[in-house]
Amino acid sequence: MATYANIDAFVTKHLLLDLTADFDASSLRGTAELQLERRDPRATEIVLDTRDLRIQKTETASRNGPWTATMFQLDPATPAFGSALRVTIPAEADRVRITYASSPSAKGLQWLTPAQTSGKKLPFLFSQAQAIQARSFIPLQDTPAVRMTYDATIRVPKDLVAVMAAEATPGDKGSGVFRFRMPQAIPSYLIALAVGDLTFKAMSDRTGIWAEPAMVDAAAREFEDTEQMIKTTEALYGPYRWGRYDLLVLPPSFPFGGMENPRVTFATPTVIVGDKSLVALVAHELAHSWSGNLVTNATWSDFWLNEGFTTYLERRIVEAVYGKRLAEMERVIGLRDLAQARTDVTEPGDRTLQPDLKGRDPDDAYSVVPYEQGALFLSFLEAKFGRDTFDQFLRRWFDEHAFQSVSTGQFLAFLTNNLLSAHPGAVTDAQVQEWLHTEAIPSFAVMPTSDALEKVEQARDAWLNGGSVESLAKTTATWSTQEWVHFIDSLPRKLSAERLSSLDRQLKLTDSPNPEIAHVWFRLAISNRYSTAYPAMERYMVAIGRRKLVVPLYRDLAATPDGKKLAVKIYAKARDGYHPVAQSTVDALLKPT
Ligand SMILES: [Zn+2]
Repeated sequence: MATYANIDAFVTKHLLLDLTADFDASSLRGTAELQLERRDPRATEIVLDTRDLRIQKTETASRNGPWTATMFQLDPATPAFGSALRVTIPAEADRVRITYASSPSAKGLQWLTPAQTSGKKLPFLFSQAQAIQARSFIPLQDTPAVRMTYDATIRVPKDLVAVMAAEATPGDKGSGVFRFRMPQAIPSYLIALAVGDLTFKAMSDRTGIWAEPAMVDAAAREFEDTEQMIKTTEALYGPYRWGRYDLLVLPPSFPFGGMENPRVTFATPTVIVGDKSLVALVAHELAHSWSGNLVTNATWSDFWLNEGFTTYLERRIVEAVYGKRLAEMERVIGLRDLAQARTDVTEPGDRTLQPDLKGRDPDDAYSVVPYEQGALFLSFLEAKFGRDTFDQFLRRWFDEHAFQSVSTGQFLAFLTNNLLSAHPGAVTDAQVQEWLHTEAIPSFAVMPTSDALEKVEQARDAWLNGGSVESLAKTTATWSTQEWVHFIDSLPRKLSAERLSSLDRQLKLTDSPNPEIAHVWFRLAISNRYSTAYPAMERYMVAIGRRKLVVPLYRDLAATPDGKKLAVKIYAKARDGYHPVAQSTVDALLKPT
């Protein structure tokens, strides 16, 4: 279950944080107060999740009573789950307060030096709690099965601004003290904090951008359709229930594309490419306001309920706002990513919709399989029952499970009662079971196609069969990121040096400012040992810490002895700038054999 918490004895209903961001010590320190509902009258201790926390003091109190110091014990740590914190709790107490400090290497925090920011003058801190890293900066019940509201006071150096995924109390700017309130009950993995030289630019009454000053205008232009996306999603799946929807653009070391922190999505700057071609990321994180944040996977093995649903919703939003062409490309590219992920993972269970996470940090099982296989499953249901019927079904799913944590079993029961039995014969139980358990795409899946990507393949074939690179360049002039990525990714893995360099000269691929295009080009360069691209690749791998963009490059390089040497050399320069979760992924890839 990835948690030590004894949630059959106590559940947290409300959390009160008072934390100081100490940039000199790279530590968050202060107090966390958990207001509890007791479920077992005989329980004498509460067990909380922690990882690398220094615990100074524990106290308990009854609702209005005074605080009294109490005993605690920190169990030995395991690499997967950290340490259980056992706090003795008297029968009448229903509050526990822990005074603590996070470690400089806290897995859920990244402390950036000024040099690692775009402004270069002030430091930056951000958190990433999903899946089980909230425990590295707050002692709590770190499981998506428990939902709580919270209030937080965050103390920072006076020239910095703190933003949390919560309502901000106005009037704090410049004081160094920021207060937040999260009135909706959320699971611990959605607690989020960023501190830096952050400025805000509104896009509509309820949407805006938080970013460093140098990034804010470009981000507001790229993401200007956010309000329209919200309206579109509301029309399909019901009201947006979180008040504001802002985007916080992080420095490029953010290890993920985006993180759906409620009210404020945290996003990588690598999707700001000037033509809105990568705004599916916003559609995705926004969709989580329904699938994930509103209706939440109860365990990390049910992750597909968050990500498969969200990937399906993401493409429906893209289709409604940007048209079928882009949505179809996204679906076909998703299919290719799914095949690649199934090749890359080493545990067979990780090829299925529900990986077996026993004893594992869910992050170690992370792949796109729950995303893409889940989305294909829902597209299959849509095709079998018709779009209108399926849309109504999904809307009911969200309405009836709002602010709840749900299991795959609950979804299957809801599916049977509301769709399968109402339309007998359309989809069989055996088909549903195959979607859940197969390590492949079921033979009866409804496969996406894309005319646009077929045209890309025709252009590719014409060039491979002797067409001129100049005529290829004419075709590519209007291509979006997706078309470029598909073109480069679908080229043969071995090409002559002459062909590669003529392509590079004509299409300027080594110097592409688009991180997605550069990524697939560097992979092709590695498989051909096209060393002209290596200096640019090295700069890229040092500047960007997004796992999806850098990890495959390390993996490709590590496949040959020479390549591994280069990878180790690049990593020596890059590692300090990476987030702890990216570091642990690359450490594992490059460890000496
Ligand atoms: Zn997601």
